[in-house]
Amino acid sequence: MTRRLVGSVLGGVLFIISPSHAHATPSPQPAAPNPIEIRVRIAEKTPRVLIRGFDLRILDTQRWGLQMAAAIDKTSEWEFYCNGTQIQAKALHSNRQPSVLNLKSPVSIQTPGGFLHFRGQPYRNEIRIHSSANTHGTTCEVVNHVGLEKYLDGLVNSEFSSKWHEESIAAQVVAARTYAYYQILENKKKKVSHFDVDATTKDQVYDGSLREDFHASRAVEKSWGKVLIANTGTHPNSRIDTAQPIKAFYHSTCGGMTELPQAVWSASYPGFKKRVTCSYCNQTPRFFWQLDLSVSDIAEAIIRGIKDEGMPSSWPKNASQILKGGKLMDLRMQSAELAKVGGRVEEVILIWFYDNQVWELPITGVYLRNWIGPTRFRSTVFQWMPHQSTSLGKAWQFYGKGYGHGVGMCQWGAKVMGEKGFKMEEILKFYYPDAVLRKLW
Ligand SMILES: [Zn+2]
Repeated sequence: MTRRLVGSVLGGVLFIISPSHAHATPSPQPAAPNPIEIRVRIAEKTPRVLIRGFDLRILDTQRWGLQMAAAIDKTSEWEFYCNGTQIQAKALHSNRQPSVLNLKSPVSIQTPGGFLHFRGQPYRNEIRIHSSANTHGTTCEVVNHVGLEKYLDGLVNSEFSSKWHEESIAAQVVAARTYAYYQILENKKKKVSHFDVDATTKDQVYDGSLREDFHASRAVEKSWGKVLIANTGTHPNSRIDTAQPIKAFYHSTCGGMTELPQAVWSASYPGFKKRVTCSYCNQTPRFFWQLDLSVSDIAEAIIRGIKDEGMPSSWPKNASQILKGGKLMDLRMQSAELAKVGGRVEEVILIWFYDNQVWELPITGVYLRNWIGPTRFRSTVFQWMPHQSTSLGKAWQFYGKGYGHGVGMCQWGAKVMGEKGFKMEEILKFYYPDAVLRKLW
């Protein structure tokens, strides 16, 4: 060991670790090789971070250009405050005086022997705290650095369920791995971000190791290193470093037909060329939805949406006056929409009355859904009828199919496919017909 003991902090000890040993801290890793690490942002805009764990190593990663352990401490609890480029760490002892370390952002906290606890959830490997300036002043961002396969172990029961059929879970794990790997490579290209994915529905829901279980780990093991690659017609044994994963979107329930990314995000992605007709989800719990919305529910949602995201370019210049001073009279759909296969609504026309005139303001089905709220207005496969409600007054009853954006794998459909005897590979081929499965590690 070439580390030099230089002092004592808080009953723990202060080490300088030479560069050759800087990354030698042992961490709980799976037996099979897992070369890929993912950086998951688990919190942002928080003024204070409390980390609990056993045998914590707190590393100031910048001050001397090498990783330095500011403290190695048997104590169980540290509190971190972000202030400018500085992070202040306070040890919280029950039986000792609290003490303070002034460190430079980012600070790394590692535990060789177990888990790091943050907000009541256990995390593996390493947590990094970044001090970041924003409109709220300086706040902390908290990022978990963890092996990609271990991240997937934790993800299974947050994004789907380890109780589902083994082949279904394995297919979902491949989709989640592919999505995560895509994000890792994208961030490597951009070199701007200190995290790859958020731990929320923005990317994939992740609660650390809280929900890991045997079935989840087995599904990860079964599909270890398998990733969906855009089928570009090149030789199947192309080199690993040139294999491009697809952005493997998935969603709860497609409602009969999947959607293409360009229809939802106005951007196309390699590996998505065809919509898929899916009959597997039509007996599942989220297939049908219904929602009553009053005139003011819709009008307020539109005004809020415009404020947050701006006005559609097709709207007249005085649209903000129309919204403010006018009245929403009706909703209309182009007749071509009704004839479409799959029933996804591309556009709804809002009919407003303002200044003794009728104004037509078209809005996409995707915007309408997002602005009303994607958990209430569950999909863009919908129709409506006028509905006089005693509680809402003039209203519309919306009824639709599916839950989610509809792109890529239909999770409930994949669940049923597994139960019907389809294998992981077949489920993936069905929902990602323009991609091929490759084992990359
Ligand atoms: Zn489906």
